[in-house]
Amino acid sequence: MNQKIWVGTNWKMTKTISEGLAYTEELVRISKKVSNNIELFIIPSYTALTSISELTSQSRIHIGAQNMHWEDSGAYTGEISPRMLDEIGIEIVELGHSERRQYYKENDADINKKVHAALRYDMKPLVCIGENIVEKKNNISKETLAAQLKVCLKDLTKEEASSVMIAYEPVWAIGENGIPADSGYVAEIHAFLREELIQLFGEVGSDIPLLYGGSVNHENIIEYIDIVDVNGLFIGRSAWETERFEEILRKLENHLYN
Ligand code: PEP
Repeated sequence: MNQKIWVGTNWKMTKTISEGLAYTEELVRISKKVSNNIELFIIPSYTALTSISELTSQSRIHIGAQNMHWEDSGAYTGEISPRMLDEIGIEIVELGHSERRQYYKENDADINKKVHAALRYDMKPLVCIGENIVEKKNNISKETLAAQLKVCLKDLTKEEASSVMIAYEPVWAIGENGIPADSGYVAEIHAFLREELIQLFGEVGSDIPLLYGGSVNHENIIEYIDIVDVNGLFIGRSAWETERFEEILRKLENHLYN
């Protein structure tokens, strides 16, 4: 198997600059032994972005931001604009993580504006979608996800869509209290998302990377990556220590490329 996969982690609000730098130095070392078929990325907190992107500039690790406003500049206290992220060479912007949706009331229409803004600056939007437990129990996961995709990606040209990545992260599977999703369920949902992307963007939809996230760890990683429409993994807690992340990468590498 030669297909590229995306593997990365969002640090959320966990690491200071010095902690982030120590982690990244170690990850740069680890990355030298990782197959070029694995596109590695990390998504630090805003304060650490500048120093971490300097540290990784000569490496193959991609750096992302955890969020962004859609305007270039303006009276939006506490926000960071695409222009600011562009200035420090950020390549990926994570948009619509379930914690942003839950605690800061971000909705799909906001995320859509952010997607357009990121693309204006040649940054890759990593758009997070996922149903919550009530939606799942009411059997409306697919309807929910289809609506999220449609609104978050509204008015993108096919060419623009080809720069987007999607992370499917069922809300009930994420974080400390998350229940890891059954791989059969993930396979069904990813196949559905692939069809929806093809409906929206034709052939381009076949190539949009679909990442899976939610309590991914070294024990379940192979089950998930073996799913046809899983093109990468978006990891939280299990990648916040480099030793554990390295174990995951080594397992993936042995399974996929050796
Ligand atoms: C997340 O919050 O996006 C996530 C995937 O976290 P975890 O892996 O810790 O469930």
